[in-house]
Amino acid sequence: MKALRTREEWEREERERLAPYAVRSADSLGRVVPEVEHPYRSAFQRDRDRIVHARAFRRLEYKTQVFVHHEGDHYRNRLTHTLEGAQIARTVARALRLNEDLAEAVILAHDLGHPPFGHAGERVLAELLRGDGGFDHNRQTLRIVDLLEERYPGFRGLNLTFETREGILKHGCRWEHPLPVPPRGAQPSLEAQVADRCDEIAYTNHDLDDGLRSELIGLGQLAEVPLWRDAHGDVCARMPDAGAGVKVAQTIAGLINRLVGDLVESTAARLTAAAPADVAALRAQPQRLLGYSPGLEKSLRELKDFLYRNLYHHPHVIATNQRAERVLADLWKVYRGDPERLPPHVRARFGEDGDTRAVADYVAGMTDRFALAEHRRLVGDDAGL
Ligand code: MG
Repeated sequence: MKALRTREEWEREERERLAPYAVRSADSLGRVVPEVEHPYRSAFQRDRDRIVHARAFRRLEYKTQVFVHHEGDHYRNRLTHTLEGAQIARTVARALRLNEDLAEAVILAHDLGHPPFGHAGERVLAELLRGDGGFDHNRQTLRIVDLLEERYPGFRGLNLTFETREGILKHGCRWEHPLPVPPRGAQPSLEAQVADRCDEIAYTNHDLDDGLRSELIGLGQLAEVPLWRDAHGDVCARMPDAGAGVKVAQTIAGLINRLVGDLVESTAARLTAAAPADVAALRAQPQRLLGYSPGLEKSLRELKDFLYRNLYHHPHVIATNQRAERVLADLWKVYRGDPERLPPHVRARFGEDGDTRAVADYVAGMTDRFALAEHRRLVGDDAGL
């Protein structure tokens, strides 16, 4: 065996090792601007590396998942959420003989376009841009990787493959976009489906953990949720003397394991039954083949409903969201009223992207702490955050 594994050898191994309906890097539709392939990294490994080196990836560290960054050092932010999701996605992709690198690239990129302050930020931008092209975080992620990252001399953006961009878009492209958008079948690739489901596994579980840590939700309330009750009951029976914190950690580990186990086993059964011969047959399926058993799907829905009612709509979270919405609405008003307040690099894009979209890109790209610092500087207060 030779010491160095070349890209061609890696691509050959993918053909042998991956399922027939997995996306192979050698079969990629390529990039909008053609590039010479790398000597030992596959096309999707290169996408993944470009995403990790992007400025927008580093900004995820100071973007809210549920809790604003200064509320505590142990809560998830979008960066740690992304890393937890990526780790789960690799496990699922590997177990199903799918292309782990593609699933990883998609999930590492999936939240790049999230504005500051989580869904509150997305809501306020969608409102401000109503009638002006709207706002959607998946579309914003595509704008970042296609247009807004500046790292290469020959093109704007990261020039990712069509397959990674398709996974990022999730629901197809309903908007005008200056670059060719990836073609879409009835279903996205399985790797894109994996990224989507593993995002959900990651946030559901870590939001439970953060919700308990913050005491916005309690163990007593969670006893009404069968999925939690079973997992926690099992842990308490197996390790009655463990501390409460360890029991919570073990319950969440058990829940992730249960979800991942059911997902890969149910999906494997559906794949065996449908037996798609290749990627094209997989894309033509009338419904998604990646998913849980009906029983677990229902239990997960109950758990998510619980979080929706008790955590995402907790008075503390709602009050924080309202303050966050005020921060972004105030900044929008200042920048739109007096473009001289914007940095020159934003004004420089008024011509090509239009002034509204250039300001939207700037505000959406902000971290929570930068938006708060701008609010203090330009409006004179911290909006109670
Ligand atoms: Mg996410």
